[in-house]
Amino acid sequence: MTSPMVLILLGPPGAGKGTQARMLEEDFGLVQLSTGDLLRAAAASGSAAGQQAKAVMEAGGLVSDAIVLAILKDRLRQPDVARGIILDGFPRTDGQAVALDGLLAEAGQRVNAVISLEVDDEAMIGRVAGRYTCGGCGEGYHDEFKQPAVAGTCDKCGGTAFKRRADDNAETVRERLKAYHAQTAPLITYYADKGVLERIDAMGDIAAIRGRLGSIIGQVTAH
Ligand code: ADP
Ligand code: ADP
Ligand code: ZN
Repeated sequence: MTSPMVLILLGPPGAGKGTQARMLEEDFGLVQLSTGDLLRAAAASGSAAGQQAKAVMEAGGLVSDAIVLAILKDRLRQPDVARGIILDGFPRTDGQAVALDGLLAEAGQRVNAVISLEVDDEAMIGRVAGRYTCGGCGEGYHDEFKQPAVAGTCDKCGGTAFKRRADDNAETVRERLKAYHAQTAPLITYYADKGVLERIDAMGDIAAIRGRLGSIIGQVTAH
């Protein structure tokens, strides 16, 4: 048996990582692992690590590698990850990338492809400011770019309650973009050196980007 696929979606806040990861789950049967979602769940649970993470997230900084890695390792113990994973929002630092390589090596696996979603900062601020999600199923929407077919009703689950993230305001987004450029963007070189990096223009519409990702993953799967 070939080992399960490990894909990474790399990109600043608002690049479309979550949107595309959910579609890749449908298209390829992979499982999305979003460290942002895992950290928000930890924060809501009120655990000590969750409370520490919450304060950092509200300020737009990066949560410590120790907390993020502990939460991710826990998630990797669930059996569904055997279908193959799309890491959305992880790794975000050199330390996390090195730790991930170690974890995968222990399981005889490796990172198969890292797809960098290339976008410009000003557009990202608009994308994040208009973002909201379904409270029932987590489907993502946007005030301007991705509205439900029937106003106020989720396309996926029919839910009518939606929510916005506290950190999706223009000020916090600027901090998050700074953190991205300082700590996460260097990973582009890290993975290019390993020969697994693919860059795609992520400024087009959602369907066009889904197609570009699909053809890259198709090529990786064929190898
Ligand atoms: P990320 O997970 O990278 O932070 P999201 O997938 O949550 O980004 O997308 C941010 C916001 O932009 C969401 O409201 C989403 O509906 C919208 N969006 C995602 N991709 C595009 C796109 N290609 N064009 C316009 N809006 C998009
Ligand atoms: P976005 O989709 O806008 O990129 P996420 O949901 O991925 O946002 O992350 C929200 C916040 O959670 C980040 O601003 C950061 O504080 C924290 N976070 C998420 N993933 C990580 C990670 N891998 N390392 C450190 N902090 C993280
Ligand atoms: Zn829904």
